[in-house]
Amino acid sequence: MNIPPNHPRRESLLIRERLVEGFKKGVVAPEGLIAHGRGECFDYLLGERTHDFALKAARVAVAHMLLAKHPVISVNGNTAALVPREIVELAETVGAKIEVNLFYRTREREEAVARQLLEHGAVEVLGVGEDASATIPELFSERRRVSPRGILIADVVLVPLEDGDRTEALRRMGKTVIAVDLNPLSRTARAASVTIVDNIVRAIPLMIKEAKQLKSMEKARLEEMIRSYDNNAVLQEALRAILERLRELSSSQLLINP
Ligand code: ATP
Ligand code: MG
Repeated sequence: MNIPPNHPRRESLLIRERLVEGFKKGVVAPEGLIAHGRGECFDYLLGERTHDFALKAARVAVAHMLLAKHPVISVNGNTAALVPREIVELAETVGAKIEVNLFYRTREREEAVARQLLEHGAVEVLGVGEDASATIPELFSERRRVSPRGILIADVVLVPLEDGDRTEALRRMGKTVIAVDLNPLSRTARAASVTIVDNIVRAIPLMIKEAKQLKSMEKARLEEMIRSYDNNAVLQEALRAILERLRELSSSQLLINP
């Protein structure tokens, strides 16, 4: 598709193209396209940039992953379409496993998501077919099926673009859950241990950068970062950022040709 280089929504339109491409390849579910629209709306309100509260959360998220015994990155269709190479690089940097986990699970899509990750350098992808033989208690969507070598035994799970029910179920299992969600009011955002309120296309590269820096930091310092972190305060800051932006906009000239 031809998007003019000076189009004000260029970046956003290019992301849509990647999702549509992922949809055609069978990686993205039709519902995933709609879910992306909800995210876009919040990104618009946040000014389509990474804020301090997201950086703070990303740093602590990486600290959790570096200290974890069994860190796992859970990947759905949208994540695989938007940041496949970055997911592989983050997994390598923090020593995490990668597992496919779909809300709308079909064998074809599971395999398409795994293929997309393998094509972008993943060595192993868990959660495909018979490998997803364990179940998360009390959860009824197809997302309850997990790998006994992955999410089942994980102590820290990164769940970009997660669904609220599963985030809560994973927390009840005692896991540390890291979410990437543009909506600070979603149940996912409010149930996670650490919520990165940012677009996944910015959040995962940011996590890679932070991981490279924090890797050489002493364990005690990482633990201290985690201890002093307050996820509720981060969500409040995200809402305040939206509020401030709307306040500014609401007292400015909005007409394009006044
Ligand atoms: P929940 O189940 O957590 O209450 P929900 O039902 O409102 O959330 P879902 O449809 O389950 O939402 O998932 C879509 C979520 O993913 C939305 O909250 C949206 O903000 C977020 N989202 C979509 N695209 C992106 C993206 N590119 N980066 C970050 N977040 C995104
Ligand atoms: Mg939901």
